[in-house]
Amino acid sequence: MKRVVIAGAGLSGLTAAYHLEKGEQDVDYIVLEKEVRPGGYCKTVNRDGFLFDMGLHCIWGDSSPWVKNFIEKELGVQLEWQRRRNAIHLDGILSPYPYQVNLKERPDEEIYECLLGFLNRPKIDNPDNFEDWILTKFGDGIAKHFMFPYNMKFWKLDPKYMTADWCWNVPTPTFEQMLKGSLIGDEDKFGGNATIGYPTKGGIETLIRALNRKVSNVITKAEIVEIDTERKIVYYSKGNQRQYDYLISSIPLHKLGKTLTYLPYQVSKAFSELKYNVVYATCIILEELSGWKLHWVYYPDRDTIFHRINFLEMLPGVCINSRGSLIVETSVMSDMSDMAEQVSKKWLEAKVIDDLYEATGLRTVDAYTIKIDPAYIIFDKDYSENITIIQKYLKDNNILTIGRYGNWEYSNMSRAMENGRDVAEKILSKGRRWKDYK
Ligand SMILES: Cc1cc2nc3c(=O)[nH]c(=O)nc-3n(C[C@H](O)[C@H](O)[C@H](O)COP(=O)(O)OP(=O)(O)OC[C@H]3O[C@@H](n4cnc5c(N)ncnc54)[C@H](O)[C@@H]3O)c2cc1C
Repeated sequence: MKRVVIAGAGLSGLTAAYHLEKGEQDVDYIVLEKEVRPGGYCKTVNRDGFLFDMGLHCIWGDSSPWVKNFIEKELGVQLEWQRRRNAIHLDGILSPYPYQVNLKERPDEEIYECLLGFLNRPKIDNPDNFEDWILTKFGDGIAKHFMFPYNMKFWKLDPKYMTADWCWNVPTPTFEQMLKGSLIGDEDKFGGNATIGYPTKGGIETLIRALNRKVSNVITKAEIVEIDTERKIVYYSKGNQRQYDYLISSIPLHKLGKTLTYLPYQVSKAFSELKYNVVYATCIILEELSGWKLHWVYYPDRDTIFHRINFLEMLPGVCINSRGSLIVETSVMSDMSDMAEQVSKKWLEAKVIDDLYEATGLRTVDAYTIKIDPAYIIFDKDYSENITIIQKYLKDNNILTIGRYGNWEYSNMSRAMENGRDVAEKILSKGRRWKDYK
């Protein structure tokens, strides 16, 4: 009998458990979850009848047919599909997103700089940092007006210290698309996620509830505190332990590193160098409906503390009583988050509410803030080397990682479900050696 421990009952861990169970083989598995309820980042909070996810969570329209079938047919969760409507608020002007193909609303001089910059963009083969990648793909006009200010504000790191390895979903235009967007405008079908899907009721946690009903062996309030990689034993809350043949981990990689025994210096160093940012999601109930027929708006300007506002009014089943609600996201660097904590969430909330009113005229009647830590993995220049060292060590010690934070990558819920499916299939597959699994 194969003994499997799954670390973490978020979307990826529960999907792995579901597929192990469905495999109808002799697998003795258990899911260990540190929180009181499963879900990880796909939890939804109910505040006076208003539903808030941990940052807006929707299913991207370009998800694979398998993902859509899994959610809607296998789990029976009905999704409402909508055309994505996003905007950018820059220098007091609201224009459609993505910026690069929607210049029509921008001032003439800015459009001229962006088009000219695109035509004269430098030809750099395989740019080795994010700054050069932006200049090569968009030119210095788009870089100056949108890409540099927004990315500095969001990542809290100068693009020249990052790589572009995470940019697989940043849409890059042709000149024709830019010209069309400058003269005709409203190119909102550009890019991979032109449509978004959201559960018709219950917020994104509906996915988790559906999965959890089909999975038997989840233990909550079970925090993994130590993993003995030599004896293959997991130690968790209240002195419990569990032997495993296979360990599947969705625990954020930098935290997994802290639980592993006997780490060689080089591996320990690689774990300690992983970088990420933290997002404070301020969940706001408005005095009345905002009337903004948008899903979210980016704020590259420095005159607001937040970088993005998610408008929830268009999503099914999350607002009540003719009032609107928002999730306003503010990022900080990970090593600043403790300091920000001391400055206090209350200070941040007050600042968000003030800036929101200044930028939009919308009045808040209730606010509370969730800390999302980690939020976005930072692809600094040491990322690839560190991940290679860590993954080799984990593979050699029979630990399989899944999900955005387990794999330490820029991925989404669809990928988390695919990871869960794939890892279960690998463990269930017969006649393969362990070394083949990764
Ligand atoms: C602000 C924000 C917005 C996002 N929006 C979208 C979106 O719109 N669409 C989309 O597709 N994706 C979105 N994502 C990404 C999405 O949240 C993730 O891809 C997905 O939730 C990852 O699921 P997971 O199960 O791998 O990880 P998690 O949800 O992080 O689950 C890991 C689980 O492990 C548990 N755990 C941690 N440490 C331990 C321990 N020591 N012992 C036991 N358990 C432990 C945690 O409590 C958690 O339940 C967003 C992410 C953020 C931060």
